[in-house]
Amino acid sequence: MAATSHASVKSRDAVSTLAGRWPLLGQRRPLVVYLCAIVALDLFAILLFATSADFRWRDSLTFAALMGCGVVCIEATRRLGVPAGVSRDLLSAWWLPVALLLPPIYALFAPIVLQILLQIRVRATVLYRRVFSAAAIGLSGCTASVVFHQFVEDPWVLSRGSGTPITFAVAAAVLFSLLNIGLIAIAAHTADPDTPWREVLWDRESVLLDIVELCLGVTVSIGCGLNLALLVLALPPVVLLQRSLLHAQLQAAARTDAKTGLLNAAAWQREADTEIVRARRTGETLALLIIDIDHFKRVNDAHGHLVGDQVLVGVASTLRGQLRDYDVVGRFGGEEFVVLLPGADADEARSVAERLRIRIGHMAVPADDTLIRVTISAGVALMRVHGDDLIDLLAAADLALYRAKELGRDRVCIPAVQPAPRSLPKDPAP
Ligand code: GH3
Ligand code: MG
Ligand code: MG
Repeated sequence: MAATSHASVKSRDAVSTLAGRWPLLGQRRPLVVYLCAIVALDLFAILLFATSADFRWRDSLTFAALMGCGVVCIEATRRLGVPAGVSRDLLSAWWLPVALLLPPIYALFAPIVLQILLQIRVRATVLYRRVFSAAAIGLSGCTASVVFHQFVEDPWVLSRGSGTPITFAVAAAVLFSLLNIGLIAIAAHTADPDTPWREVLWDRESVLLDIVELCLGVTVSIGCGLNLALLVLALPPVVLLQRSLLHAQLQAAARTDAKTGLLNAAAWQREADTEIVRARRTGETLALLIIDIDHFKRVNDAHGHLVGDQVLVGVASTLRGQLRDYDVVGRFGGEEFVVLLPGADADEARSVAERLRIRIGHMAVPADDTLIRVTISAGVALMRVHGDDLIDLLAAADLALYRAKELGRDRVCIPAVQPAPRSLPKDPAP
């Protein structure tokens, strides 16, 4: 018995050491298969188009000039840093012209060059993400390039300004964006199947950025055809846009808990304070929940911290999926989460907390060939009933959470309210 558990701990340790060295191996199997398939397809496309490509000096010079612009863009924004996780840039401004003006093989190489630079000069992230990004962008660019060249025989006619090639260029740029979004969304959904498709595919800010990239890409392509030197004029505005985009993303990242994507404790407290002040002014009801995962230490002890982290991500995504857009959800620290429910009264707060408890109880996170399930305990506090400010509400909810743990966990508690002391008659009748 002891030997078996020892062996399983050893083999788990071996797996986590391997996963530490090769983070791709720590991912879900369907994700590994998908990422490998995309990279293999990219390599196949490189072989296919490399053998059939004709070398032309003009193409090579244009490629070098556009890559030079990409390098300047990366170097000019490098010192700002990049937010953790998925971040956006405006590098399409350079690889879209590569796809439109040059043979498809260049579209496959362009992201490889810039991803290597990003990895070396900006942030050394896990290698498989860089390789996948390069492959996804390369395949999208290559497809857009093939389609565009099918309809427009000589792509340099773009700079003559006639409508038809420009319309095809816009259509090819849309195709490039859709393919790129699609390939990345499939990876995101395979990594976390609980995340709804709408969330991985649709984000207003991202769509706006895609449109900006499309406009820049087509405009730079037209300019390139007129005179390669015009790139010098396109570079400063693109660098400036890229800097302000990064700045906005870094600001957003400073509010976010990197592991779960929820608000971090400081940002949650700021937003919660604002809601509480508003509820005090308008007289609206409001409820606060503190949620704590039960026996979370056991998950870490049995399956390791990486799996524990996946459980935290799963809980966070269930919380976000079950709440309204204007509910304020944050990670308070460790395995504790906080939720503010503006407009919720006692009944609604209890039913929301119960729904979260049941949903999280049904959640299953795969690990070590088993499925991990966790339960949560929640403490609820109500505005004006248990307190009038954030400190009082947090203290009341924390007390209720403590009670829920004491009563056996996997439950929701609301602190009892002391009835207001009734004033006694001064001279009781004899
Ligand atoms: P209880 O039901 O009483 O809440 O028990 P518990 O085990 O959940 O609570 P305890 O406070 O004993 O342990 C919390 C654990 O959460 C210990 C800590 O290692 C783990 N933890 C905190 N932050 C993280 C994190 O970011 N990732 C992982 N994997 N574990 C974390
Ligand atoms: Mg805790
Ligand atoms: Mg806990």
